[in-house]
Amino acid sequence: MTPPRTILVTGARDWRDARRVAEVLDQAAAQVEGGVRLLVGDAPGADAHTRAWAEARAVPVEVFEARWAQMAAGGRPRRAAGPQRNRPMLDRLDQAPGERLVVAFHDDLDHRSKGTRQSVGEARQRGYPVALVTSAGRQLLPPRPDRQARARALRTAALGYATRGIPVLPLHTPQLCPVLAGRDQAVVAMACSCGDQGCDRPGKHPRSLLVPHGVAQATTDPERVAGWWRRAPLANVGLATGHLVDVLDLDGPEGVAALRAFAGEHGWTPSGPLARTGRGWHLYLQPAGTGPRNPIHPELLAHVDWRGRGAYAIAPPSRHARGAYSWVRGLDTPLEAAPPALQALLRPRQAERPKRLPSRPVQPGHPYGQAALAAECRELAAMPPDSGRNRRLFDAGLRLYSLAAGGVLDEAQVERELLKAAERCGLLATEAKATRLTLASARRIGMAHPRGVPERSTRTTPTPPAQRTPATRERGSRGPEQQPARPDLERG
Ligand SMILES: [Zn+2]
Repeated sequence: MTPPRTILVTGARDWRDARRVAEVLDQAAAQVEGGVRLLVGDAPGADAHTRAWAEARAVPVEVFEARWAQMAAGGRPRRAAGPQRNRPMLDRLDQAPGERLVVAFHDDLDHRSKGTRQSVGEARQRGYPVALVTSAGRQLLPPRPDRQARARALRTAALGYATRGIPVLPLHTPQLCPVLAGRDQAVVAMACSCGDQGCDRPGKHPRSLLVPHGVAQATTDPERVAGWWRRAPLANVGLATGHLVDVLDLDGPEGVAALRAFAGEHGWTPSGPLARTGRGWHLYLQPAGTGPRNPIHPELLAHVDWRGRGAYAIAPPSRHARGAYSWVRGLDTPLEAAPPALQALLRPRQAERPKRLPSRPVQPGHPYGQAALAAECRELAAMPPDSGRNRRLFDAGLRLYSLAAGGVLDEAQVERELLKAAERCGLLATEAKATRLTLASARRIGMAHPRGVPERSTRTTPTPPAQRTPATRERGSRGPEQQPARPDLERG
């Protein structure tokens, strides 16, 4: 469905001609597939006529109040209230999903009405053309973006990231483009500097003219970086992940809610660098050594993506379709490691959920399950401090609870034995709360993914399949599962 065209209306407080307002707005609303919606202030004059027009035609309108009383009470000059209101209106326009239009009704913009002049000026600076309507006619004020300041900020940021040792690469830039060439140039929509009309990732993919091999060409070399931003001064800044930082990408309210629930469940309060994106957040973490854009299973953590080795994240002050990326906590904030439970979700699916071998139903107490339980617990119990015991506990729990869910092991026995092993290695004594949280989440995920006994193992001597944790791999990979080949899923 086509989103509505969003029209921001501003104008003189003494604009009298209601018919002119109606005429212009009728024209702007004519033959627009998704209809129109309005953003307007609460002032008399042009604002009031616009609100009346919207009411008469049942057009959705969002009215922005200038808080005159509040401003005066705050001891600030009353005239500051207008500009204070205009900014949120423009922010809302920036966030509009479809076509956008800015219309100003004014006869003497250069000399009167500071408020209208200011909002027209700021709209043009943000890249919008403005249709200026006067009693005599209509003229188009072209956008006047402050390209130099933006270019400076982007280049400085790119060089700054490179200086920190984070490889950077130039990305495309989202742009406002006229949509009705020849008829009304003031109507704009979001497009991409790549020039592809159908680009579905505006400003999010590498500038292939500068970096034909994409993120593989990201560099910390200041001369190359400076050269790229000389050639494409408004290029968005991509940071190659998997080197100094990994990035957890929380997409939209769903991603934020999913991570919040997950963090709560695991007693984790994310404290590392944090950036605001177009729809959500980027949380920066220590590299976990995982592959590109590791698919976190949506059942486990919906709308959350991990950017690791071979991937990249878009960094402030890059532009997105709704404004700019910005730091909430910058890169001087210490990076933290992802909690073990989160890292466990990142490993390749094939390893996390061993091949779906044909399995047959069995009773708890099956020798395969008992052997797996004994091996896991023995290994965990023998681990010294600081050797990744908590993560090992999670891995073991995930596997054993899967077997319990498949009827191969008894759930209560798994719990008992794992706690015993955690006690023997000292984990329970030093990190009691974390241990119980880890175990609980392993149980939740494991019980949701039942596994049976592989067919071949039901008759022969039970040999638990290899665990793919760093701890066991260091001791020599034992087992049939090598790192599975994975397609390159790298995306911005
Ligand atoms: Zn593009």
